[in-house]
Amino acid sequence: SREIHLKRRPAGDTVPEDFATVARELPPPAAGEVQVRNLWMAVDPAMRGRMNDVRSYIPPFALDAPMEGPAIGEVTASNDPGFAPGDLVFSRLGWREAFNAPASALQRRDRALPPQAYLCYAGMPGLTAYAGLLRIAALKPGDVVFVSAASGAVGSIACQIARNKGHKVIGSAGGPEKVAFLRDVLKVDGAIDYKAEPSLTKALAREVKAIGAEGIDVYFENVGGDHLQAALSLANDFARFAICGMISQYNLTEAPVVPRNLTMLMTKRIRMEGYIALDHMDLEPQMLADMVAWHDAGRMAQAETVYEGIDKALDAFWGLFTGANIGRTMVKLG
Ligand code: NDP
Repeated sequence: SREIHLKRRPAGDTVPEDFATVARELPPPAAGEVQVRNLWMAVDPAMRGRMNDVRSYIPPFALDAPMEGPAIGEVTASNDPGFAPGDLVFSRLGWREAFNAPASALQRRDRALPPQAYLCYAGMPGLTAYAGLLRIAALKPGDVVFVSAASGAVGSIACQIARNKGHKVIGSAGGPEKVAFLRDVLKVDGAIDYKAEPSLTKALAREVKAIGAEGIDVYFENVGGDHLQAALSLANDFARFAICGMISQYNLTEAPVVPRNLTMLMTKRIRMEGYIALDHMDLEPQMLADMVAWHDAGRMAQAETVYEGIDKALDAFWGLFTGANIGRTMVKLG
């Protein structure tokens, strides 16, 4: 079985020399342990933070040990009464083809969905979109919804949840291929290629008008900056903004210059609220039930970019930083 280790703390962009692929023989699982063969692992931008030796809400990756990340796999041997060979299990033990772990590190998943869905719309990206729209933004009938980074892992699911609940949705993403994906696969009502628009506010006004609306009622925020400024400008009174992320701000070295129109929070009585998905795990059973129902009805597309084999795991990770990927970035290991 092969696994990817962190060899040294990267400086700036990661390079191949920061990592090592290590092959090792797995012993039979000890008492209380389970052996798992991973079928899929996912990569996300937050993993870059764990490569640094800094204090955060989650400990850094250890050196000369496999990195961690969400994975879905199949039990191949069990020395614990709670698991049997063939069980489908979720773990945070990605970046390896197979492993032994205590039963407590595993969560069983049923086969109602394709296995990789548990890393996508039925996993944390799904819960992030679900909690943001339904709890933070308190989506209600008739709301017009605007989603930024709409072709991404979280954004693509937010668009589909809102569509499935009968809302008009406008999405924004960078480039013609992503905009075609928004229209053709996610079936949004309006789409903006923000990289091709001189004014995002004018582009959003045009899309709002095209769907026969006055403004937006809910903004699912992934980007910040001029996206937030445009959303404030086009917001209806009593709009709700769920602040999921502000990726355009993460690498800024100077103070941001937009939004310039924050006063609209008051004049339009907008409620803007940030949140972290992990605080909303209580919604998981309800989220899973909805996702299974939408999947069965053919109304939840698996938006994903797939790399094949553990040898491609680092390429998958690097792809996140070039914006080349659509939906959730995953590596097929099984
Ligand atoms: P995505 O799959 O959406 O990937 C990030 C996307 O952001 C890129 O594909 C790119 O799309 C877009 N992007 C990057 N830089 C910019 C920029 N300067 N301006 C506009 N768009 C940009 O990643 P995730 O789905 O994992 O994350 C989406 C957001 O959700 C992030 O802000 C993340 O921090 C946040 N998040 C928050 C969580 C929470 O609990 N609050 C949990 C998980 C994620 P494009 O090509 O269209 O520019």
